Amino acid sequence: MLFADIIGQDALKGKLIQTVRENRISHARLFLGPESAGSLPLAIAYAQYINCTNRGDTDSCGKCPSCNKYNKLIHPDLHFVFPVVKGKSGKAAISDMFITEWRETLLSNPYLTYNQWLDTMDAENKQGGIFVDESKEILRKLSFKTYEADYKVMIIWMAEKMNLQTANKLLKILEEPPEKTLFLLIAESSDQLLPTILSRTQLTRVPKIDKTHLTDYLEKNLSCSRQQAINAAELSNGNLALAKAYLQTAEEENLYFNLFATMMRTCWKVWGHKQAMLDLIEWSNEMAAFTREKQKAYLMYSLRMVRENIVLNQQQPQLAFLTDEESKFSANFNPFIHPGNVAQLSENINKAHYHIEANGNAKIIFLDMACKIVVLLKH
Ligand SMILES: [Zn+2]
Repeated sequence: MLFADIIGQDALKGKLIQTVRENRISHARLFLGPESAGSLPLAIAYAQYINCTNRGDTDSCGKCPSCNKYNKLIHPDLHFVFPVVKGKSGKAAISDMFITEWRETLLSNPYLTYNQWLDTMDAENKQGGIFVDESKEILRKLSFKTYEADYKVMIIWMAEKMNLQTANKLLKILEEPPEKTLFLLIAESSDQLLPTILSRTQLTRVPKIDKTHLTDYLEKNLSCSRQQAINAAELSNGNLALAKAYLQTAEEENLYFNLFATMMRTCWKVWGHKQAMLDLIEWSNEMAAFTREKQKAYLMYSLRMVRENIVLNQQQPQLAFLTDEESKFSANFNPFIHPGNVAQLSENINKAHYHIEANGNAKIIFLDMACKIVVLLKH
């Protein structure tokens, strides 16, 4: 992974390169940043740069023996730890059991999200974790000498998924790692990280991808127009995976709009129509069949539509950004979104987003959200 492969984040790249130049490489660094903003590829690019034998001022060479192995993520001194799911019998699981899938997935999608990774492991509704056997494995691997690199690197992705037992076993080695060993931890939420881990790591905050760089990237790499790229960058809030899910579905004839219109119309009809409740159940089953990314993109889309409609409801059409089709629908729909229900509607959608992210059962989450909308629309 080269720094050049990372979208935007120029200031941060500069800072990381400076730590190498000034020989201030911290033995334990935490990359803390939002989902799909680039923390993971940045950490890999940083490790590759540190170990490159012919590095330039702004990037690794990409060609030396170390880079060659880093490019394929197979360097013997590069180790990965990530959340895994336990087997059917609840049997212990460690990252190495999934390392082939991990490398493949990461090489094709370095901006991988936690939900995408769970899908790759066929987790269904199981929760992933970094379990205690993993800490034994980490200690074992770090007890060997480096094979060929300057630095042995241990990348721990989604470090907040470490359970207490795992984390406790790592505290000592995080504080006093063996010589020439680097821990690069990656996390999205500091709330869920143990304070003892936080206090033992140097913090690097990774901001979300800025809109300009994200828009340029989308326009260049996905088959979409400039305007579509701008919309996706705006809606995704600097999250590449979400922007991609949005663009891929945008091509499918306004899929999100149709789903939103169906949801709202059916929710309204539930009062007095038995069939409408069955339609709502069918709608939630349809939603559950999408990937988590698409489900999240749909919820972001719904939040946007609620926002646009309250703006219309408040007679501020100049502040609304709607396509022709959305405009037509919203002309009739906006009276149903008003100051009396808008906050609860948004909260309800946000909550569904949170539960989808936590890998809850999508059928239940979408039906539950819709049932609450039924009530709120009547307010
Ligand atoms: Zn190199």
